[in-house]
Amino acid sequence: MAKENSRFETLAIHAGCAPEPVTGSVNVPIFQTSTYAQRGPGDHTGFEYSRTRNPTRDALEANLAALEGAKHGACFGSGCAATDAIMHCLSVGDHVVSADDIYGGTFRLFDKVYRRHGLDFSFVPAADTNAYVSAMTDRTKLVWLETPTNPLLSIADIEAICAAAKKRGVPVVVDNTFATPYLQRPLELGATMVLHSVTKYLGGHSDVVGGAVLASDDAWMERVKFVQNAAGGVPAPMDCFLTLRGTKTLAVRMDRHCDNAGQIAELLVGHKKVEKVIYPGLTSHPQHALASRQMKKPGGMISFVVKGGLESARRLLQGMKVFTLAESLGGVESLIEHPAIMTHASIPRELREARGLSDGLVRISVGIENVADLADDLQAALDRA
Ligand SMILES: *Cc1c(COP(=O)(O)O)cnc(C)c1O
Repeated sequence: MAKENSRFETLAIHAGCAPEPVTGSVNVPIFQTSTYAQRGPGDHTGFEYSRTRNPTRDALEANLAALEGAKHGACFGSGCAATDAIMHCLSVGDHVVSADDIYGGTFRLFDKVYRRHGLDFSFVPAADTNAYVSAMTDRTKLVWLETPTNPLLSIADIEAICAAAKKRGVPVVVDNTFATPYLQRPLELGATMVLHSVTKYLGGHSDVVGGAVLASDDAWMERVKFVQNAAGGVPAPMDCFLTLRGTKTLAVRMDRHCDNAGQIAELLVGHKKVEKVIYPGLTSHPQHALASRQMKKPGGMISFVVKGGLESARRLLQGMKVFTLAESLGGVESLIEHPAIMTHASIPRELREARGLSDGLVRISVGIENVADLADDLQAALDRA
């Protein structure tokens, strides 16, 4: 179907999704089965049991691998389960260097689960390339990057950090959830593995929770695939189908997310109630040049600080008409949230403030609605604040 050298938009629709051979079904069927009939003992079709392999999941894994330019893909029941599968490949005493401003659930898994299992972590400022380099020791077995970060949208220099890690033979994982493979190509910049919460932009419709690991490194993917089957954090066939439906429109959705976000960022910059706007597409962003080089477009996420702290932020968030007050991101609908109260409440206040997560900070996931409606809604909210 899709030729090897097809371009992104074509791969998104066709990779892994050839018409089903028996009926010609244009869409990959939801193979809602746990097991497969064998012709004789051990004489099977390649499918034995759905934790190990399922055709709908095979299609999604091939599709996502193609989008990231990877040889292999492994899908999971959530982004956290995908992270867990990578961490399961490490052993007691191993050291991991990670960005500090990472997804809260990733930090919780590292800090509360894997520390207890004997792994050691150093957390460094996401945008400080030298900090990653100086934190690496002889025991370092993994570098964990997330860029842009959440919710401060710091940008890590993937190419520079991967080059430094490579000199020490240390693999690098990039959580590419915020950017998607349409905007950012970590494997081409030297990363060993890419991780996704497909719950966000890849699924794109806020109707499925899932995760994925994509890589070309045979040895690493063999380990991840082993854990996928051994620990069993796999996605259901229906969820794989929904995610595949999402990826078909990834490119057009991302273009609109980015266009809308650019216009919303400009509106915020010009508003007297707004103290600061954080968006990689603005020249005021500290890593604007790096973001422009590393990402095709600046993405659909914006954070801003409203004047008047918590009380202003509360007034702003209450009674929005088009934006939905909710956690998560990356769906077609615009979402707004307050990190200090909602997604990042588990971080102690002093630590939050030291990292710039002030009480006036608001994060928005700009959807693909008509941007004038989004602007009107935000304008009214700011007037209330
Ligand atoms: C949501 C998210 C995750 C975790 O994914 P789940 O699907 O919620 O388990 C990991 N990384 C980033 C950047 C995320 O936004």
